[in-house]
Amino acid sequence: MPPRQASFPGTPDSAVQAQNDARDVKRVSVLLPLPLAGAYDYVAPADIADALVPGAVVAVPLGSKERVGVIWDRPAENASDALPVAKLKSVIGVLPAMPISDVQRRFVDWVAAYTLTPPGAVLRMVLSVPDALEAATPVIAYRRVAHLSKEDWAGESDLRLTPARARVMKQLEDGPPRVLSELSRETGVGASVIHGLVAAGALEQVSLAQPSPFVSPDLSRPSPVFSPDQAAIAEDLSAKVRSHSYSATLLDGVTGSGKTEVYFEAIAAAVAEGRQALVLLPEIALSAQWFERFAKRFGAAPALWHSEVTPARRRATWRAVADGSAQVVVGARSALFLPFKDLGVIVVDEEHDGSFKQEEGVLYSARDMAVVRAHLGGIPVALVSATPSLETLVNARDGRYAHLHLPDRHGGAKLPDVELVDLRRNPPPRGQWLSPLLQARLTQTLAEGGQAMLFLNRRGYAPLTLCRTCGHRLQCPNCTAWMVDHRGRSRLECHHCGHVMKLPDHCPSCNAEKSWAACGPGVERLAEEAAILFPDARRAVMASDTLTTPHAAEELVRQVTEREIDLLIGTQVVAKGHHFPGLTLVGVVDADLGLAGGDLRAGERTFQLLTQVAGRAGRADRHGHVCLQTYAPEHPVMQALAAGARDDFLNAEAESREAAGMPPYGRLAALILSGPDAAAVDAHARRLARAAPDDPSLRVLGPAPAPLSLLRGRHRRRFLIQAPKKYALQGTLRRWLATVPAPAAVRVQVDMDPYSFF
Ligand code: ADP
Ligand code: ZN
Repeated sequence: MPPRQASFPGTPDSAVQAQNDARDVKRVSVLLPLPLAGAYDYVAPADIADALVPGAVVAVPLGSKERVGVIWDRPAENASDALPVAKLKSVIGVLPAMPISDVQRRFVDWVAAYTLTPPGAVLRMVLSVPDALEAATPVIAYRRVAHLSKEDWAGESDLRLTPARARVMKQLEDGPPRVLSELSRETGVGASVIHGLVAAGALEQVSLAQPSPFVSPDLSRPSPVFSPDQAAIAEDLSAKVRSHSYSATLLDGVTGSGKTEVYFEAIAAAVAEGRQALVLLPEIALSAQWFERFAKRFGAAPALWHSEVTPARRRATWRAVADGSAQVVVGARSALFLPFKDLGVIVVDEEHDGSFKQEEGVLYSARDMAVVRAHLGGIPVALVSATPSLETLVNARDGRYAHLHLPDRHGGAKLPDVELVDLRRNPPPRGQWLSPLLQARLTQTLAEGGQAMLFLNRRGYAPLTLCRTCGHRLQCPNCTAWMVDHRGRSRLECHHCGHVMKLPDHCPSCNAEKSWAACGPGVERLAEEAAILFPDARRAVMASDTLTTPHAAEELVRQVTEREIDLLIGTQVVAKGHHFPGLTLVGVVDADLGLAGGDLRAGERTFQLLTQVAGRAGRADRHGHVCLQTYAPEHPVMQALAAGARDDFLNAEAESREAAGMPPYGRLAALILSGPDAAAVDAHARRLARAAPDDPSLRVLGPAPAPLSLLRGRHRRRFLIQAPKKYALQGTLRRWLATVPAPAAVRVQVDMDPYSFF
C-alpha cells in the first residue's frame, strides 16, 4: 500500500491530546480485517468526525502499521470496559470506498457468531480487494480551453496553428473530452502534438471517472415461451422479488426442466426494480454454457466472481458491485461477501453441491449463509436443484421454505432409463474396468452413430501404486494419502497437498527394480482401455486437471455438443451443468465409489452425483440410457436410481437421520485440532476431552484421528459434537474452548454443520 498518511486530514498528536482533554471527544469502533477478538476503539478527529459513520472505510494505526478497517456499530455492553480516551489513537482518514452497508455489517456479525470465527476474519472476505478501497485511477481526457480567442492564435509563436494542430482543435470543437488514444486515432496525429497543445495552453486535461465495465442486461429481449408450469413459477419468483421481502424457495425440478430459464425471470425482475441479483454456481470456471444462455437471454455478460478473475478485473468488479453498476453477479461462494449496493434476489443453483461449503479459513456453507443474507436483507432467495439436499427438503416440508416443482423435462424429453450392472455377475475381464454388458451397450450406441460418456470420478491413471515384490505403497510424505499416478504427466501427485514425485526406479522399501503395479483405474487408464476397445471412436478425456484453462473446457464442451466427439470420458466436471444434446448412453464405471467410507452423507451425495451424471443422457427426441456398474445393486441408492424413486430414497434417508438425531434433525459440530507435532496435538485433545461440557443432551465423540490424520504435514484429531436441533451449540462450544486455550503450535477449528468428515 502506498504511504497515504500525508493525503489525509489526519490529526496531529498534540491536537488529539487537546481533544482528549475535552469532554465531548467522539470515539468510534473500528473492525479490522484481521482475526482479532473484536472491534477496537479510536478517537474521531473533529475535522472528519462527521464522515465516521458506521460502515465508513477508514485508515487507522495499529501498532506501528497503518491498517484499513470499517467503522463498526459499537455494542452498548462495551461501554464499561472501554479504554479511557487518553489511551486511544486517532482515526487517520476516510477512504473513498462506498461505506459497507448495514445489512453487510449485520451479515458479517451473524456469520462470525454462527461459525465461531472472529468477525474480522469474516470482514476480510468483504474487503477482499484492498486496492478497490482506494480511489479509482481517473481517466485523463483532453478538451479545448474555453477562453482561448482567435487573436491568441495570431500572436504568440507558441500557438502556431500547424495543420495537425488545427485538426485536433477542430475535432474537439464539439463532443465530450477525448482520451489521448481516441483523439490520436480520430485525427491521425501523434501524442507529441497533443502534448504540445497542452503546453501551449490551447488544450487542458480533465479527469473522468472510470466507466463501469459492465453492460446492463437488456430487459426488452423476449423470455422463452414458457410452459404453464414454468410460467407459473417464473411469475411466482418474480412477484417475490417485487415484494421486497424475505422468502426462501426451493425450486425443485428434474435436469432439463427449465429451472435456469425460469430463475432468469427472477433476475430480470430484480434488474427491472433497479436492484442487483446474485447467482451462486458451484463450478463457475466450467460454466461456459450457462454464460451463453445468459447472454442469449439478456444480451450482456454478468459480472463474474471467482478465484481465477484477474486482479484488475476483481478491483473493477468489487467497485461496480458497490456502486450498483454490476447488476447481475455470478460467482462462487465468496461472491456472497461482495458489498452489494442494493441486492434484490439471490439464486443458489445446484444448492445441494458440496462445494458451497468452504473447508478452509472461515468454515461456512454459502448455501446456508445465502439464506441468512436474504433474511437480513429482506429479499428472496431461491435454492435450485434436481436433487435437493435433505436439509433443504426438510425445510420445505416443514413450511420454512416454499416448494416449487418442475416435474417434466422441457419439450417432452424423457428422463433416461437406468440399468444396474451387477459386477459380481458381469465382471470385467482381468485388468479392465468395463463389464461385457457395458462394452456391448457402448458398441451398439457407437455403431448406431450415437454419442456416449463414461463417468469415473477419479483423476489420473491409477489411485494407488504398489511394489509387486514387497507390497510397499507409494504414499504422500505430508498426508495420509496415496500418491496418484498421473502417467500423462509422467509423475505421481498427491491430490491433497499437491506434492509431486517421479516414479522411483527402485522400491524404497525392498529395493526391487521396476516392480511397480498400478492398482485401480483413473480416467486416464479408462481412456487407455477405451482406445483398445473402440479405436475408431473419437475420444476425449475431461477432468479438472486435463482442462487447464476455462477456454479448454469451453472448447471441449463445444466439440461434444457439435458431435465432434463420440466417446467422452470424464470425472465429475462432466456432470455439472453441461447440455450434450446428442448424448444417449452414460456408463458409470464405479457407482460405489462415493459410498466407501460411509460418512453421514455418503448415500445422499452419491445419489445426487449419479442423478446429475445420468441427467446428461437423452434430450428432446433422443432417449437416454444409463448403465451403473456396481457391486451392490441392492443398495438403496442404486435401487432408487434404477427406479427413479428419488422421494422414496430421501424419505428413507430422512427417517434414518431422524432416528439417529443426525442433521437435519439434530445439530452437529466438529472440532478439528491440528499441528506439526502429533504429541502436542494429542495432549491438547486430551485436555479438551477432560473439559468437555457435562451436558446430558450433548454427545461428544472423540478425540479420534481424522480420516486424513496427516494433511499438509499437520497431524489432525477430531471431535464430533451432536446436539438436539434447538440446542444453542455455539455458546456451549465457545465456553468449552475458552476454558482450555490452545497452545501456539495447535490450531483448533470449529466446523459448524460439517459437510465432510475428512
Ligand atoms: P435445468 O436448469 O432445469 O436443467 P434448463 O433451464 O437448463 O433446465 O433448460 C434445459 C434446456 O431446455 C435448455 O437448453 C433451455 O434453454 C431449454 N428450455 C427450457 N425451457 C424452455 C422453454 N420454455 N422454451 C425453450 N427452451 C427451453
Ligand atoms: Zn499430500
